[in-house]
Amino acid sequence: MADPRSAIPSVDRLVGSAEFAPLLARYPRSRIVDATRAAVTDARDRLGRGERLGDLTDPALYAGVAARWLAAGEAPSLRPVINATGVVLHTNLGRAPLARTAVDAMVAAAEGYTNLELDLDGGSRGSRYVHCVSLLTELTGAEDALVVNNAAGALVLALNTLALGRSVAVSRGELVEIGGGFRIPEILERSGARLLEVGSTNRTRVEDYGDVLSGTSEPVVLKVHRSNFRITGFTEEASVSMLAQLAHALGGVLLHDLGSGLLVDPARLGLPAEPRPRDSLEAGADLVVFSADKLLGGPQGGVLIGRRALLERIRRNPLCRALRVDKATIAGLAATLRLYRDPETALREVPVLRMIASDPEALGARAESLAAALRARGVDCRAVSTSGAVGGGTFPGTELPSRGIELVLPRSADELAGRLREGDPPIVARIVDDRIVLDVRTVLPAQEQALVLRVAEAASGGTEEGPRRGLDA
Ligand SMILES: *Cc1c(COP(=O)(O)O)cnc(C)c1O
Repeated sequence: MADPRSAIPSVDRLVGSAEFAPLLARYPRSRIVDATRAAVTDARDRLGRGERLGDLTDPALYAGVAARWLAAGEAPSLRPVINATGVVLHTNLGRAPLARTAVDAMVAAAEGYTNLELDLDGGSRGSRYVHCVSLLTELTGAEDALVVNNAAGALVLALNTLALGRSVAVSRGELVEIGGGFRIPEILERSGARLLEVGSTNRTRVEDYGDVLSGTSEPVVLKVHRSNFRITGFTEEASVSMLAQLAHALGGVLLHDLGSGLLVDPARLGLPAEPRPRDSLEAGADLVVFSADKLLGGPQGGVLIGRRALLERIRRNPLCRALRVDKATIAGLAATLRLYRDPETALREVPVLRMIASDPEALGARAESLAAALRARGVDCRAVSTSGAVGGGTFPGTELPSRGIELVLPRSADELAGRLREGDPPIVARIVDDRIVLDVRTVLPAQEQALVLRVAEAASGGTEEGPRRGLDA
């Protein structure tokens, strides 16, 4: 018997057929040829697996597959999602949603030309690094400031500038991994510095630094804020002020990697004490590094603040050019920082702060009203108490008492979670005791309608496998 695959028409014949005409009106020919090849390969593979496909000479058999392939290719890879995890700074979900004024400023900068590197007063060449300096120095009390691509980059840049070929003293209790493969000992080595380990994992005293550094001149001491885990029990660490005194007595500098970049009083957010950039400078740190997209709530960026002489050296390092930020980031960060001139405004308008400070009672009312809207669409669910987190490697062990909607459905939580992630917009939920819980804290108010529609869609439609993307959709 002849191989059935020989009945498959050529790609040229298929593309020239009447069935493909609607596609030619919508997509470039080269894309249609690729899609048709994919459809033919798909048919050959399925025949090879022994499947029956009907009339192999009919172009309609391939046109449908090609159309889905083309449509899937049009959908952007990076898409908005609904964060129903209750984790406010979710690194996998892009960390901080931005304030309206920050978004507007980024759009305005992206849409046209800017004075990014032009001094409008003199008409001469300017620097992109000046645009956030006055806001950052005003808000933190620093002499000078610099914004680069992210905090990891800021730390590499600072170490490479201050400690290339030299030793950097770090407590063994602070040789941490921040996440995404960012480990302090490796970063230090890649920056061209040598690691001088100090003390022990649970206890490091200022005298331990003194012993390790005795006889060295102009040492670099790095203190890393343990932002993503806690050690408790028999512990001791040297404070920023003690380390600053020691480093300064030896003619050296203290670099403090602070991580979170919180600029308001943590008590206002119901959070435990957390050092802020200003506290660190006041305690004597010479340079402080923090993220722009953690508790600051801005676009991705890394901020360096501190002594002007050090920041001038850092700006002259060629690596600074490699880590530079673009105009949209500068615009978005400056707009976010401007909100902090009045802490009340920041608490109201910076989404990250607003979400963290959300009152459980107000969250409960939102959960009740969403649950009612879902039940009206036939989805069995109820408003429940749940617990979220700040996230982004900050405030480990601190739970945010929250409210959510628990779905009561005859379907495994994993399967339902998969269906919620598949539609548009995808919903990322929490699974608690094999039940799906949608924490309302991190659902943006503008997404509530979409959430109801999507949950209803995912909850209905039988228990078979959900719709999938790609060729067999
Ligand atoms: C998060 C964090 C970093 C890395 O910040 P990115 O902006 O993500 O590069 C560095 N150090 C500490 C202590 C952190 O918590």
